[in-house]
Amino acid sequence: MTGSALQLSLDFAYIAAVVLFILSLKLLSSPASARWGVLAGEIGAALAVVATLFNPELVQYRWILIALVIGAGVGIPLGLVHMTAVPQRTALSHAFGALSAAMIGIAEYYVSKRSVTRFEMGEIALEVIIGSLTFTGSLIAAGKLQELLPQRPIVYRGQNIVSLSVLAAAVALAVALVVNPAHTVLFPVMVIVALIFGVLLVTPIGGADMPTVISLLNSYAGVSAALLGFVLNSKVLVVAGALDGSSGFILSVIMCKAMNRSFTNVMFGAFGQVQATQAAGKEERVVRSATPEEAAAILSAANKVVVVPGYGMAVAQAQHKVRELYDVLTKKGVDVRFAIHPVAGRMPGHMNVLLAEADIPYDRLIEMDEINGDFPQTDVALVIGANDVTNPAARADHSSPIFGMPILDVDKAHTVMVIKRSMNPGFAGIDNPLYYLDQTLMLFGDAKQFVGGIVRELGGGH
Ligand code: NAP
Repeated sequence: MTGSALQLSLDFAYIAAVVLFILSLKLLSSPASARWGVLAGEIGAALAVVATLFNPELVQYRWILIALVIGAGVGIPLGLVHMTAVPQRTALSHAFGALSAAMIGIAEYYVSKRSVTRFEMGEIALEVIIGSLTFTGSLIAAGKLQELLPQRPIVYRGQNIVSLSVLAAAVALAVALVVNPAHTVLFPVMVIVALIFGVLLVTPIGGADMPTVISLLNSYAGVSAALLGFVLNSKVLVVAGALDGSSGFILSVIMCKAMNRSFTNVMFGAFGQVQATQAAGKEERVVRSATPEEAAAILSAANKVVVVPGYGMAVAQAQHKVRELYDVLTKKGVDVRFAIHPVAGRMPGHMNVLLAEADIPYDRLIEMDEINGDFPQTDVALVIGANDVTNPAARADHSSPIFGMPILDVDKAHTVMVIKRSMNPGFAGIDNPLYYLDQTLMLFGDAKQFVGGIVRELGGGH
């Protein structure tokens, strides 16, 4: 193949990869097409990698092969982790992505430090700073989620000033390098300062806020990759990085909105701490509880049932039992639908993924805004391991830390049944007035076992 024909083929492959990335994002936005979305993204990435391997500027493949083997050795086990470990797995992926972007930027600087222009130096410095802070920040986030590091926000007086000063130092070093790119001693100092800033950025944030932080770090990793695309003059990297950066940012905004929290509150609010004190010292109140037999009788007498899944269903891995419950009730002529809150569980789309895994038909999954109007006509709202996303205090109690967070209005259903193991609070660490209402029955037990018990009573299951 002639040089220009090869270049044309490479450009074509890159354009196809970019189209596949955009298509992937589009398909990922609905549970029905999400699997195709993943496939489109995978093919796009494979195409971009293979095309790059044909780049005529590549002189030898030895190091690339070694890196591919190491990468696959790390990546394959990472792909096999349990669903509940996906947030920390995602944080690790961002850490690796950001590390590679930072390292390529560092290599670019050392290869061309004599000839690098001021503009290029600015690009490299910005890219390396963002890549480095995203690397350490993502590692801390993964450590918190895996409970290798303390989950609580680690805060001290004057913390924000210290953190901002460290960031300012990194930026000052970058400016000094732009003024004189040949000032090589400053470069490693800038990298180290940026790495330290990543640690300082994430340590004060509580473990429970990590999903939002991870999606923000995802966005940083994308920005860093896009900047790297400019440094390397790679259009596919610019577009892929921009898509990654913007989608991560949009996701963070959606999550903050669904929790009625601001970015500032997530990043600097030390959320987990305040709640722990609030959870303590509440007086004993009476709740009514019921057995699987009683719950089965109530469900089989109902016409309309709305199931509200939450984090507890994920922990208990109860989704397959929930599917059996759906089957047996549907067979009895009960209309069963699922109410999906945007931040139920611990990661975006958590409930959609679990229910899809259990083959529950997509058209039975109804988004919060759409289903909320139906609760007054619902006979039974069956809450399975969800707590905060059903807490009516978010609507009525101005002093509640979750006041203003949009919730599923389950308290408007004729009967509410809540499966959870105890009266312990959920993520926000606060009591839920729903449990003390006249129409509420508490079904105490592990979600998988309790739902299994109801299914047996109804004569279903395998
Ligand atoms: P939640 O408020 O954390 O409540 C989960 C409930 O599940 C707990 O009250 C717990 O009670 C119960 N549970 C735990 N293990 C269980 C088991 N094996 N069987 C039965 N029940 C079990 O969960 P949520 O209602 O899904 O709300 C999600 C929360 O996470 C929100 O506050 C949201 O803001 C936050 N968040 C979500 C995301 C996201 O992307 N989805 C991101 C950041 C923050 P027991 O201990 O009594 O069983």
